[in-house]
Order: sequence, then C-alpha cells, then structure tokens
Amino acid sequence: MIESMQVLLQDAQQGKYAVGAFNIGNKDIFEAVLRASHEQNIPAIIAVSVPELEYLGDDFMAYVLKQMQTSASRLALHLDHGKSMAEIKRAIKLGFNSVMIDASHLPFEANIERTKEVVAYAKEHGVAVEGELGTIGSTASSSCIAGTDSQIIYTDPEDAAIFSRETGVDALAVAIGTSHGLYPKGIAPHLKLDLLGQLVHKVTIPLVLHGGSGNQPQELRHAAHHGIAKINISSEVKSAYFQALRKHLQEYPDDVKTQSVFGDPCRAAQAVITEKMILFV
Ligand SMILES: [Zn+2]
Repeated sequence: MIESMQVLLQDAQQGKYAVGAFNIGNKDIFEAVLRASHEQNIPAIIAVSVPELEYLGDDFMAYVLKQMQTSASRLALHLDHGKSMAEIKRAIKLGFNSVMIDASHLPFEANIERTKEVVAYAKEHGVAVEGELGTIGSTASSSCIAGTDSQIIYTDPEDAAIFSRETGVDALAVAIGTSHGLYPKGIAPHLKLDLLGQLVHKVTIPLVLHGGSGNQPQELRHAAHHGIAKINISSEVKSAYFQALRKHLQEYPDDVKTQSVFGDPCRAAQAVITEKMILFV
C-alpha cells in the first residue's frame, strides 16, 4: 500500500527507528525492495533520483505505483534530490507522494525561499517535502578528496530550527558526516553523533541521513535510534548487484538466460536491503 510519508516518518520518529529509502535504479532493485519489505514486514521508501527517473521513464513509474498499491507493505514513493520546480512538478504529476527539494547549494535565505515555493505547491497536492540544509559530501564521481570533511558543511542546529520553521518542510536532510557514493578502501567515515543530538534538541520534524552506504553499522543504528527517521541507501545496494553480476558473467561467460544471469544480482541486492532494514529498526 502507499503510505503517507508524513505518517511513515512520524511513526519512525516516535518509535525511535529509521525507514530505509532505497534508490531503485532498475526493475530488479525495485522488486528487491518490495520483496525485502514484504518478507521482513518493515516499511520502505522507494527513492528515485532525477537521473534515475530520466533513465526509468514515466511509463515505468506507472508500473512502480501499481506494484506499490497492491503490496501489503507500507511504502512511499519519493523523488530524491529534486533541484527545480519543473522536476518537482513532473514527479508529483507521476504520482510521487513525497519530494525532496535540494537547494542546499544556495545561500541560506535563497534555500528557504526555493523550499517554501516547493512546500506551497506540494501541500496543494497532498505531497510531503524534504529539504536539505548543510552540504552532504560526495565521493564517487567527485574529484575532491573522498572521505574527508572538506566537502561537508555540517548543519548548524540554530539554522536548522529557523529553516524548518520558516519553510514548513515535513523532513530535513542534515549533514552530520556522511558522503554520497562509496568510500574508498581504508577510509572509515565517522558521524558527528553529538551534532545529531544538538539537532534533535532544536528541530522537531523528522531528520534524514543521506549517503548511508558504507558507514559503520553501529553509527547508523545509533543515528536511527536517536532522531534520524529516514536513511538513504543507494550505492551499497547497486554495488552488491553489479558485483554479483560481474562474478556471474566471469564464471559463466556463455550464460545468455536473462533469468539466470540476473538471479544472483537480485539476491545480492535484496540481501543488502534486508540487512539495512533490520539495522535501522
Ligand atoms: Zn542524497
């Protein structure tokens, strides 16, 4: 069933757990999320970024929504990192019940203004909005030094309080030390859990952690139990999927049966999704 994002996150906030938001990327990963959610009886957020939406296409989203509606699991459909009003409107028209407006690259006041516009439009359509304050780092496809603080602008708790109050967002993505993408070998990222404590003290709406791939499980679990209500996982699932695909093709270079080639990758993706779901509750 499709569940309101506000309800999913408020339940998580009150119950002191986090709902996993999984970027689907393709049909296999989408179905792996559905199976994991159903088997574990744990809610899940189906996340689609703007480039993923471009790749999947509008007709595929109609299929996604139909599958979600007939599922027994509690599911929300969320646009990840919308940057413009046009992208937000497209997603809402397609049936997304939650959107993220990421204007975190803009100056504080401009971020508030852009986010307010999106909240006004989304509210008219009964859609939840996630804003972002601070800069979550990036590792993959970035020329910056990965895994260091240089790309992260930590979220200021006072600013976060003002931002959530002024914009009326339903959830707020905060920068407390995660980066998008996979961390290079040997880099062990650390979350600023003391900063999370200050943020929770100042902000009443559910908080969101992006870039949850590759972080230490005990830190993610701590964050989930102390105020983070949604954790985004993308790269780690896809990495497991593609590694299993590579391995299968190396072992069986002549295998041309689709169902057999993609069997292991689907199971590998589901295993990571299941592990995260259980970790966050
Ligand atoms: Zn993100």
